[in-house]
Amino acid sequence: MLVKTKGFFITTSIAYTNTPPHLGFALESIQADILARYCRLLGKDVFFLTGTDEHGQKVVKAAEEAKKTPKKFCDEISAKFKKLKEILNLSNDDFIRTTDKKKHWPGVKKVWLNLKKQGDIYKRKYQGLYCSGCEAFITKKDLINGKCTIHQKEPEIIKEENYFFKLSKYSKRIEKIIEDEVIKIIPESRKNEMLNFARQGLEDISFSRPRKDLKWGIPVPDDKTQTIYVWADALTNYISALSYSKNSSKFKKYWPADIHCIGKDIQKFHCLIWPGILLSLGLPLPRTIFVHGFITVKGQKMSKSLGNVIDPFKLVKKYGTDPVRYFLLREILPTEDGDFTYRKFEERYNSDLASGIGNLVSRVITMVAKSNTEFPFMEAKVKMRMKSSSPSKQIPNSVFQAEINKTWKNYKKALEGFKFNEALKTIWGLISFCDRHIEKERPWEEMKSAGWRKKKVIGNLLFALGNIANMLQPFLPETSEKISKQLKTKEAKPLFPRI
Ligand SMILES: [Zn+2]
Repeated sequence: MLVKTKGFFITTSIAYTNTPPHLGFALESIQADILARYCRLLGKDVFFLTGTDEHGQKVVKAAEEAKKTPKKFCDEISAKFKKLKEILNLSNDDFIRTTDKKKHWPGVKKVWLNLKKQGDIYKRKYQGLYCSGCEAFITKKDLINGKCTIHQKEPEIIKEENYFFKLSKYSKRIEKIIEDEVIKIIPESRKNEMLNFARQGLEDISFSRPRKDLKWGIPVPDDKTQTIYVWADALTNYISALSYSKNSSKFKKYWPADIHCIGKDIQKFHCLIWPGILLSLGLPLPRTIFVHGFITVKGQKMSKSLGNVIDPFKLVKKYGTDPVRYFLLREILPTEDGDFTYRKFEERYNSDLASGIGNLVSRVITMVAKSNTEFPFMEAKVKMRMKSSSPSKQIPNSVFQAEINKTWKNYKKALEGFKFNEALKTIWGLISFCDRHIEKERPWEEMKSAGWRKKKVIGNLLFALGNIANMLQPFLPETSEKISKQLKTKEAKPLFPRI
């Protein structure tokens, strides 16, 4: 999945600006960031996009409650999402806002007109089930016991005249696309779920709302009485950010997206509606849609009313960026729901970061400093590269080399399968290997002598640490840099003080 010559395009979904960022979007952003950083290490020309989805009635309502105009409200919330880049150390290349009239709106209008040109947009009187929670018309198939499965609420019946998109026309093709993995949906269980929906036949979907009911949105280009509804507005961000046009070099270079990283609540939009739009536009389809689960808190869904929302800003302020990145990727299974508690967080922090990598680095660097021996190959080892090579004939010894090779192999396999937790487990396996080696060889016992045995032991450990720093680069970029620096300066400074 990760090999090709064109630019590599990775996106998160765009976050809805009715509430400030919570830990769930932080997770998605970090997952996408790790993929982006990993692909850059492999030498790919990566474009990593994130942003905010700002239109719709829910935003208007939230703004009213805050006694602000929708514009001011969105500016403030969007700025908080934008700030995630800084606090989570994200490497995104761009940040798109759907209220951006210069960057986003022209793309949306163009998409609308091109869909219309294909004969895929038509007006019709409509009566449908509308869930105000979803802010969407839903079908009977979406209901369990007459209620929306996401909001546990009975939908209202709404009658109005809207524009529709002929999704039904593409239903069979979308089914085949999912089945044949033209778009690879990860994990497999999500693919099967989407395939089941497609097999039931996709219905045409409402693509606009009357302007009188939805003023906060992009007007339909040739009908001022209607506002473009979320699909053609929000999903289009992925191409408007590349200035969607045959002549745009960015668009030519990066489209189709290689990875859309999304949450399970919006998989239908991405796996069923988005391909329909792209097929109508005659554009290539995204290659992979990676679907993550939700973060729960003590087993419960995070929600304002329960008062259990974890604020990523507070978390980072208390523990630092890398511990948050580490916990979310190590503890939360990539495609399942996962639970957050402060107790678990601190346990992981102390065992894996303070006692694990932190302790190993400080032990090895202290030995280097005390040993009074030159290790001329250190510089080469800390260079970023995705495979290990031998700095000298004796170092690393064959056992070390085999262990490091095995770790790289498992690490790459895990990352290419989006198994972030497995990749980290693999690195920590190498850390334990080094710890065991130190215990067995006890190099400090001959610290004062200039013995070759000691030099070999420490040399092997340094070589392993250089590789560990490389492997950590996508996950814990700051820590990786600190380790590299300590390998150079031979000055041990605690990476993660115990809490
Ligand atoms: Zn709903």
